Amino acid sequence: MNKLISSSFLIYTMSIVICLSACGQGKNEPKATQTKTTQDVVTKSPDEWKKVLSAEQYSVLREKETEKPFTGKLLYNKDKGVYKCAGCGNELFTDEMKFDSHCGWPSFDKEIEGGKIKKIEDNSLGMHRTEIVCAKCGGHLGHLFDDGPTSTGMRYCVNSESLTFQKEVAVAEAQKTKNNIDTITLGGGCYWCVEAVYEMLDGVVSVASGFSGGNVVNPSYREVCMGNTGHAEVVQIVYDNKKTSLDEILRVFFTVHDPTTLNRQGADEGEQYRSVIFYSNNEQYKTAKSIVDELNNRRVYDNPVVTQIVPFKVFYKAEDYHQDYYAQNQEKPYCKMVIQPKLEKFEKLFKDRLKKTGN
Ligand SMILES: [Zn+2]
Repeated sequence: MNKLISSSFLIYTMSIVICLSACGQGKNEPKATQTKTTQDVVTKSPDEWKKVLSAEQYSVLREKETEKPFTGKLLYNKDKGVYKCAGCGNELFTDEMKFDSHCGWPSFDKEIEGGKIKKIEDNSLGMHRTEIVCAKCGGHLGHLFDDGPTSTGMRYCVNSESLTFQKEVAVAEAQKTKNNIDTITLGGGCYWCVEAVYEMLDGVVSVASGFSGGNVVNPSYREVCMGNTGHAEVVQIVYDNKKTSLDEILRVFFTVHDPTTLNRQGADEGEQYRSVIFYSNNEQYKTAKSIVDELNNRRVYDNPVVTQIVPFKVFYKAEDYHQDYYAQNQEKPYCKMVIQPKLEKFEKLFKDRLKKTGN
């Protein structure tokens, strides 16, 4: 008798009608625009841009507005990572190029090579300036001045709204476990759904949505949606072994997604939605393998569990707007129709294991 799986879990799981509709609606928008990407140039109509950008991002990127000085979210950011165009994911600057210019906007002394930024003469407002725009999508970034204090003499003065920041998560850092803290990376279809569930489980320290298992460094969501990065949408869960366990985390995992369809969850089809466990050590491998074997031996599902169990290599965090997606977007139809039912199912089955709220 394998103690890893409690009989109540099996009963629960058997009784669950896996009725996963798609991560569909909400996610199709960027996907649709992908098809219009030709020769590395992104073109969209104003309406299409409005669907994928916030109102603030739209006014800066597409209408060349300037955000108020000293208000941008990336102004004081000192984390290691890459700054990308918020419109198209084009990688523009790294943390090493950023300096504190005291001008009120994020400033960089050089750009990532490769002609990613276009310079345009700008004589508006009675001034002679050089506007900088993303060469890929034409999004307005800010202006370029030759008064920089570093050896390059340049100051790329950029709106925070024009940028997204991708924090560097080194493999070693992700795997650094001390005492009772451990990390596991799971792919169970749409990461919005999976992340929202684990945020509620007692003992979970943090959950991040991102990508793993592919061959492209620091992919953008759009790149992953194009289907050739090899990456799966995953959540990386940091958990406290004293309050929860990998066993419990995997029980939740097999409750909130369908592990019998390898590259599909509901209407979401493709490798990026594959069911996969990325293990970081032998112990995790053994736990995962024995749960999968148990589910199959007991025929908990009508079809065999096809969840992949593969070694963890690296995790790339998704763009900021993908983090805590459910919490930030509860009113969106997609969240109400797809994520909420999963949360309710989880709350019901694991009602004694929810984080205490109200503090
Ligand atoms: Zn761009």
